[in-house]
Amino acid sequence: MSEATRTQTRVWPSVGVLGAGQLALMLADAAKVLGVDLVCAGQPGDCASQAAPLLTVDLSDARAVAEFAAQVDLVTIESENIDAAVLQGLNLFPNARAVGIAQDRLLEKRFFQSCGIGVAPFAPVDSLEDLQEAAAELGLPAILKTRRMGYDGKGQARLQSADDIATAWAEVGGVPCILEGMVHFEAEASLIAARGREGEIVFYPLIENVHREGILRRSTVPFSGATDALQPLAEQYLRKVLEALDYIGVLAVEFFVVPGGVIANEMAPRVHNSGHWSIEGAKTSQFENHVRAILGMALGDTASVPTVMLNCIGEMPSTAETDAFPQLSRHDYGKDAREGRKVGHLTFPAGATEAIAFWQHKLNPDV
Ligand code: AMP
Repeated sequence: MSEATRTQTRVWPSVGVLGAGQLALMLADAAKVLGVDLVCAGQPGDCASQAAPLLTVDLSDARAVAEFAAQVDLVTIESENIDAAVLQGLNLFPNARAVGIAQDRLLEKRFFQSCGIGVAPFAPVDSLEDLQEAAAELGLPAILKTRRMGYDGKGQARLQSADDIATAWAEVGGVPCILEGMVHFEAEASLIAARGREGEIVFYPLIENVHREGILRRSTVPFSGATDALQPLAEQYLRKVLEALDYIGVLAVEFFVVPGGVIANEMAPRVHNSGHWSIEGAKTSQFENHVRAILGMALGDTASVPTVMLNCIGEMPSTAETDAFPQLSRHDYGKDAREGRKVGHLTFPAGATEAIAFWQHKLNPDV
């Protein structure tokens, strides 16, 4: 089909994704089903190229990103770790302010507080002296986190005692940080929502998450510790966040569940690993609802069935092993094996307890 014919028959605006990893891959799968043209910006060989055209773009180069954005109708992101200056002036969903807050832990914490949402005790740290003062003020143990560019436990150092202060500061590279007091949470839960162009919002159920070494290992829906009050409380918080940011698209907030409610840990202005279960477990996946939201389509039904997702970290199990379990859905991102890397996930109906126990043990024996 010629470009002219393609443009004439196209119903929806085209989408450019900044990034071409597994989140872009799953967004591309959803876009395909909706008949939406989606193009990714990344590096040759990035895994989303299996499902969508990939243009080679250096995401730290504002001019290259602007040139990419000029070739599509609107732009979205798969990672918040893109320099805010690069995002300025783009037709970007969600907006640059939301991304700018989410990519800086200090701004994020203050933003949650401005929305009336509790957070862990914290103090900004810009020097070794600040860290000494913050450790005295908050008490130890505590976690030092870089303000920017942290993910999957990277950019973090745990301090058990005052002896760890200098090592922790060196470990994070002496960049601007926050020190966070340890929260003795009952559980970790995330809530994902999509907000559309007219301000309409749909919520997924609270998701129970288990992390190890800062990396998500397992997500379960529904959250077993949910009380009648918890889902509405988390929804009320998320609504505040979405409205305060005039947010369009999918947003995830990770919470610590504490006696009497939840406090916010962080937010992701994008589709989120803890929502991957929604491909099989919800009537409309987080990926489809993100594409729907940013294009101004009606949002899809989030009705969900009990589901468990296990992350494959480091390497994928063989198909011979997974094919023996007809209950599981295998998602292989097509990445090379590497320690600590998210290379795929497996999704199960929650009733498949034996299969879940087997794979839980195989993938994450100590979770
Ligand atoms: P983060 O990168 O902030 O999401 O942290 C990764 C994981 O480390 C979280 O999901 C928790 O399991 C743990 N963690 C982070 N901050 C704290 C805290 N203040 N207290 C206790 N555990 C934490």
